[in-house]
Amino acid sequence: MADNEAAPATSNISVRRGEPLVVVSDVDKHFGDLHVLKNINTTVNRGEVVVVIGPSGSGKSTLCRAINRLETIDSGTISIDGVKLPEEGADLARLRADVGMVFQSFNLFAHKSVLENVTLAPIKVKKVPKRQAIEKAMELLERVGVANQAQKMPAQLSGGQQQRVAIARSLAMNPKLILLDEPTSALDPEMINEVLDVMVGLAKDGMTMIVVTHEMGFARKAADRVLFMADGEIVEEATPEQFFTNPTSERAQDFLSKIL
Ligand code: ADP
Ligand code: MG
Repeated sequence: MADNEAAPATSNISVRRGEPLVVVSDVDKHFGDLHVLKNINTTVNRGEVVVVIGPSGSGKSTLCRAINRLETIDSGTISIDGVKLPEEGADLARLRADVGMVFQSFNLFAHKSVLENVTLAPIKVKKVPKRQAIEKAMELLERVGVANQAQKMPAQLSGGQQQRVAIARSLAMNPKLILLDEPTSALDPEMINEVLDVMVGLAKDGMTMIVVTHEMGFARKAADRVLFMADGEIVEEATPEQFFTNPTSERAQDFLSKIL
């Protein structure tokens, strides 16, 4: 660290907490004639938990995928930690490594053990020595409560366990941000809480998270902010308290009346 930087080395995270980490500016995106993201502007600060909710087809997944550059955008900019998302190439792989992504459908590698699922990317992409990757992976599997499943294949685990492995896998890359797109929607009801509990723990630890979910309990407990999307627009942006007790737009009121 240079002499002119005042931050003490030991408290990097807290010193930097609150700075913008993801900045989405004037983003538009079409799929053919469908205008799926309409002038999206939002900033997610370091350490913040943002819950994105809204009706099916409103563009929530597309926004997440654009932030991870799994989708291109037509116009506007998205930057992560001050770096504008590049078009392609090596920089993109590096940026993507900084952004963890957890999908509804777990997406574990079916033919790799749980442990290998978690160590693969650190070893291949980050060139972490195998022993070190295994040690870290076991710590993470412990943290999400599935360390005793490390040698099993994904299909031998319950959905809730698989999703917790998927979270451990994304944490293994030390991401700056984790995007979770309906991480509990494919789970049987009795498994939802075990995944939400892990997410609440991450939030408490200061992980920056963008979570698409209709789990209002999670939003109330962990979210700093709720973004309500409809028809490709951010219609409302509020604290969970404001949003759930006093939504201002008719579309949000209508949506909440259907899910609550
Ligand atoms: P949400 O996650 O809020 O349900 P999505 O972002 O998945 O919404 O989708 C927004 C709209 O874009 C939907 O109408 C969907 O059918 C459409 N869409 C999503 N992905 C594609 C694609 N690859 N090609 C064409 N249309 C798409
Ligand atoms: Mg979606």
